[in-house]
Amino acid sequence: MPAIAELVGPTDVESLTAEQIVETVLERLHPRVALACSFQKEESVLLDMLLEREPQTRVFALDTHVLFPETYALWRELEQRYGIRIEVFEGPSLGRQAATHGEALWERNPDLCCSIRKIGPLGAALAGLDGWITGVRRDQAPSRAETPKLGWDERHELWKASPLADWSDEDVWEYVRERDLPVNPLHERGYASIGCTHCTQPGTGRQGRWVASAKSECGLHA
Ligand code: SF4
Repeated sequence: MPAIAELVGPTDVESLTAEQIVETVLERLHPRVALACSFQKEESVLLDMLLEREPQTRVFALDTHVLFPETYALWRELEQRYGIRIEVFEGPSLGRQAATHGEALWERNPDLCCSIRKIGPLGAALAGLDGWITGVRRDQAPSRAETPKLGWDERHELWKASPLADWSDEDVWEYVRERDLPVNPLHERGYASIGCTHCTQPGTGRQGRWVASAKSECGLHA
C-alpha cells in the first residue's frame, strides 16, 4: 500500500482545504484521475471546483437505467453548462437483468442488484485510473465518519480523494448559492441523498435510501 507521502510529501492532508485537495489531485494525477458523479449537490460543487482549475478533468457516471428523470435532466444541464461529456458506465439492460435474475431484483436482492448495476460498472470506470474523486462527506452517515480527504483505496487499488469530507450540509449549500450552481431539484423536495428511483425516498442524511431494508450503502464507498 503506497504511503500518502508518496503523493503529497510531508504535508498533513487533513489540514488541506477542499480546494487544495482538488489542486493536489489534479497536479499529481490528471489525466489519470476522474470524478465519480452521482448528481448530488456535492458533485455540483466538485465539478465546478475541478473544471475551473482543469477544464479537461475527467468525469464519469454510473447509469443504472433507473435514475430519476430529474437526475437525467441535471446530467444534460451540467454537460451543457460546462461543455463537457460525462463518461458513462452501465450494467446490463433492465430486460437482460430480468431475464437472468427475474423482475424487480432491487426488491428481492438489492445487494445483487447494486453489484450488477453499480459495483461492476464502477470497476470498469476505475480501470486504468490512478485515482478517483468522490463527493462523500463524513456527516452523511456513520459508515462515512472516517472518510479520509485523500488516501489509498485498498479495495480498488488507486488513490481516492473526498475533498468535501469535512464539509457540512450547510457548507455545500453555501457554495452552491455563492456560485449559483445547478443542483438536483429533488434536494429541495426533501431528498438529502438521491439514488435509483426504486430505492430512494425523501429523508435526511442517507435515511431515504433502501428504507425497506437494513441496507444503507450500495457498496461503492463502504
Ligand atoms: S440502488 Fe436499488 S435499483 Fe439501484 S442498483 Fe441498487 S438495488 Fe438496484
